[in-house]
Amino acid sequence: FNVPTPVNEPVKGYAPGSKERAELQQALKDLKKQQVDIPMHIGGQEIRTGKTQNITPPHDHQHVLGQFHEGDASHVQQAIEAALAARTQWAELPWEHRASIFLKAAELLAGPYRARLNAATMLGQSKNAFQAEIDAACELIDFFRFNVFFMQEIYKQQPESQPGMWNRLEQRPLEGFVFALTPFNFTSIAGNLPTSVAMMGNVVVWKPANTQIYSAQVLMELFKEAGVPDGVINLVFVDGPTAGDVIFHHPDFAGIHFTGSTGVFQNIWKTIGQNIHKYKSYPRIVGETGGKDFILAHHSAHPRQVATAITRGAFEFQGQKCSAASRAYIPSNIWDEVKGYVQEDLKSIKMGDVEDFSNFVNAVISEASFDKLARYIDAAKADDSVEIIAGGGHDKSKGYFIEPTVIVTRNPQYVTMCEELFGPVLTLHVYDSQDFEKTLELVDGTSPYALTGAIFAQDRYAIDLASKKLVHAAGNFYINDKPTGAVVGQQPFGGARASGTNDKAGSMLNLLRWVSPRAIKETF
Ligand code: GLU
Repeated sequence: FNVPTPVNEPVKGYAPGSKERAELQQALKDLKKQQVDIPMHIGGQEIRTGKTQNITPPHDHQHVLGQFHEGDASHVQQAIEAALAARTQWAELPWEHRASIFLKAAELLAGPYRARLNAATMLGQSKNAFQAEIDAACELIDFFRFNVFFMQEIYKQQPESQPGMWNRLEQRPLEGFVFALTPFNFTSIAGNLPTSVAMMGNVVVWKPANTQIYSAQVLMELFKEAGVPDGVINLVFVDGPTAGDVIFHHPDFAGIHFTGSTGVFQNIWKTIGQNIHKYKSYPRIVGETGGKDFILAHHSAHPRQVATAITRGAFEFQGQKCSAASRAYIPSNIWDEVKGYVQEDLKSIKMGDVEDFSNFVNAVISEASFDKLARYIDAAKADDSVEIIAGGGHDKSKGYFIEPTVIVTRNPQYVTMCEELFGPVLTLHVYDSQDFEKTLELVDGTSPYALTGAIFAQDRYAIDLASKKLVHAAGNFYINDKPTGAVVGQQPFGGARASGTNDKAGSMLNLLRWVSPRAIKETF
C-alpha cells in the first residue's frame, strides 16, 4: 500500500468578512480570555511544579497570557526514563501506523486546530495572521504529509538479491532517545523537529524555546489527539544548561535535532565530543543554525524585482527568519531606482499589533532581542560612514517594536554586513557596476554562514558565474527571487558552513538521520 501523495496545503487569505477571519478572531478572543496554565508533559502526565513564569505577547508585554511550569534536572531525568519506557513498543509498531498518526495530525491541523494554533502563534510569538498561517498551519501540515511520504520511500528502498539469497535492509530506530531543541521563530519547526524523529520510530525529549511555549502547548495537544502514545514525545521546560547536564551525560543519548544559534550548537557539539565515551552509539547531530543571508544584484537586474525582494526578504516575519536577507550588494547603475522603490515600499507598510490584520510588521520576540537590535541601529546612526535610508526608529514602551531599517555602507565589512542580528535590519553595500566579480568574492568571504542567498540578473552569464563562484555560499540559492519562503516538498531547506549540518528539513535526507540501518543477508 502507498500513503496518499502529498500536496502542499493551500494558504488561506483571511480576507475581511471571510469565515476563516471570523474563526481566527474568535480563537484570539478565546485565548485572551483564558489564563492558560501550561504544564510539562512527561510520559503522558501533566507536570505542574508550581514554579511558574509568565507568558506575555512581545507586542504588548504588560499583558499576561498565562504561565508555564518550570522544571529542573529531575524532570529531564524523568522525561528520559518515560521516553525509554515507551521505546520498544513504539519502535516495533509497524510504520504504517506511525504514518497514520501523522497524517491524522495534518488533518486535525488543517481543520479544527488551525485557528487555535495560528492564534497562539500570533499572540505568543507576535506574528500577523498571514505569517502564522504560512508557518503554524501550512508549513507544519506540509511537514507531516511530506515526511510521511519520505518515510515510506525510505522503507521501500531495498538492496538487490542474487539467486539463493535474500538481502534486506531494516531501518531500525536509533538505540536510545533523541533530544529536540526547538526555536521560537517558527511554530512549524518546533512541531517538525520532535515529530520527524518520532515518525521514524524514535522517542523524544523536547525542549522548546521559552518564547514559544504558548503555541508548543497547543502542539502537544494536537500530537496527543492524533494518537502519539504517551512517552513518545515528552515536553520539558527547563533552562538549556540544566537540560544539557542530564541529557549529554546519559548513555542512551542517541541524537539531537536542533534549530537555534550557531554558538549554542557549537557548544553542544563540544559537550557531546567530551562525553563521547559515555554513549552506546555515536549520537546523530543535526542542526540548523545562523545565517547572514544575501541579496546580490548584477547590473542587468530588474530594479523593481530587487526592491521587492529586499522588502519581503528582509522584513517579512520581522526579519526573524534564519533565511532573512540581512546584507545586500547593489550595483551603482540601478541603485537610485532600487532605493526609490524600497523607500516607497517601506513608507507604505504598517507596524503594530497582530490583531490589526493590516500590520505588516509586528514586534520582535523579546527585550534582549530588541536591545541588541536597537544598539546596532543607534551605533549606525552615530556613525558618519553609514547612512540609514529607511526606518531607524525603535520603541519598547508597549511592545518590542523595531522599524524596518536599511543601513547603507561604503564599507562592505561594516559590522552589520558581517554579524547576524536576527531582526528587521538590512545592511546594503552599493558597488561599482563593473565590479561584479570582485563583489562575488565579497559575498562569499564576508560571512562564515551559508544558509540562503539570492542573485538577481537578466544576464545568463552572470547567473552562471554567480552560481559557480557561490557554490558553497548558500544551501538554498535563489535566482531572481527573494532568499526566503522555502516550501516543504519544493525547496528542501538548510545550509552548510556555520549555518548547520545541511540535513534539509522536510526531506528524505533528514529522516535518514533518525534511523540506523541493519543489512540482513539470508542464504537458502
Ligand atoms: N524555511 C524558512 C524559509 O525558507 C526559514 C526557516 C528558519 O528561519 O529557520 O524562509
